[in-house]
Amino acid sequence: MDDSTARKLAGQKRLLWAAHEGNLDALECTDCGQHSVSVWFTHPGDGIYRTWFICTDCSFELRAQNLGCPPHYSEDRVSEHLENYDERALARAIQAASREDVKKAAQTSRPKDQEE
Ligand SMILES: [Zn+2]
Repeated sequence: MDDSTARKLAGQKRLLWAAHEGNLDALECTDCGQHSVSVWFTHPGDGIYRTWFICTDCSFELRAQNLGCPPHYSEDRVSEHLENYDERALARAIQAASREDVKKAAQTSRPKDQEE
């Protein structure tokens, strides 16, 4: 792991921690170094929460998956734009998962007499 990767990871950890502490605006961007990162939330499904970190000065974007509701989650901070994005991602994931299931089902439902 090179220095810049390590710095980035440390920065991301700082962002996650800031959100956990309730600091949701003017966070330091790990990419451009500006204090331009805001925290947003999405709630794409039952019991599924995500925390987003979006920089307004560059294209930095970080998404964290939450186990349960984030401590500072609020409806005011739910981004519709991100939610739509998230739903599409989720739909794709579900589609991919069900395709896997179909494949698996096809493999396991082979009639017994053909196995020998
Ligand atoms: Zn930035």
